[in-house]
Amino acid sequence: MTSLHSTQRIAFFGGTFDPVHCGHLTIAQTLIKLFGLDEFVFIPAFHAPHKSHLKPTSGYHRFAMLSLATADKPQISVSTLELDHAESRYSFDTLTELKNIYPNDRIFFVMGADSWMDIRTWHRWEEVLMLTDHIVVSRPGYEISCDHVTQRVQERVVDIRGETKRVPTQSNPRIYFTDAVHFDVSATEIRDDIRQDDVLNRTDDVPDVVAKYVEKYELYR
Ligand code: ATP
Repeated sequence: MTSLHSTQRIAFFGGTFDPVHCGHLTIAQTLIKLFGLDEFVFIPAFHAPHKSHLKPTSGYHRFAMLSLATADKPQISVSTLELDHAESRYSFDTLTELKNIYPNDRIFFVMGADSWMDIRTWHRWEEVLMLTDHIVVSRPGYEISCDHVTQRVQERVVDIRGETKRVPTQSNPRIYFTDAVHFDVSATEIRDDIRQDDVLNRTDDVPDVVAKYVEKYELYR
């Protein structure tokens, strides 16, 4: 008997995306090819306005910018899962929920090298790393090493750095290290530049539709 549902390979990419930039989008496009993904989903995080000293931009604006930036990319979408909860959530809870929503699919959770090096600060971090597949993407200025994680986690690592063609995935969930993306940009730099120059000059770092949105709503001034 054939199953009606074939296993999909879906990547989820959590972050603040304040704003989404070409580094984030390049990660999505590269990983779709490298891992043969069916879908790549951005999950903007909720930030309680009263809690953060950094005062992130409203979730509505961050969601809108992500939607505009991905509107013409059929395999890439934006989820409201974290924004809908209207409170900051641990990745552990989000991943557990995603596993319940997609019980038959293969879930890849994506993070940059800086997040990986900070992973021990995450709530139930070791369990997070055991829940699903993970993809750790290189980021200029950050190393990817394994000294800070336990032996159990280290045994899950598959180092595919140097690989640019479609990688065969293992049967069990793993933590993949890839350097297929090299994009030196950060949202902090973009915000700082706008604050300083009162205009968004970084046309190579931010998609045109996002730049227009930032101008229209006078964000980051
Ligand atoms: P900020 O500078 O405000 O911290 P950011 O550019 O790191 O923002 P986030 O939304 O915080 O963007 O990042 C979401 C995820 O994307 C994180 O896991 C981060 O490590 C990763 N990431 C962001 N930019 C890059 C990049 N240029 N290369 C690789 N990973 C990146």
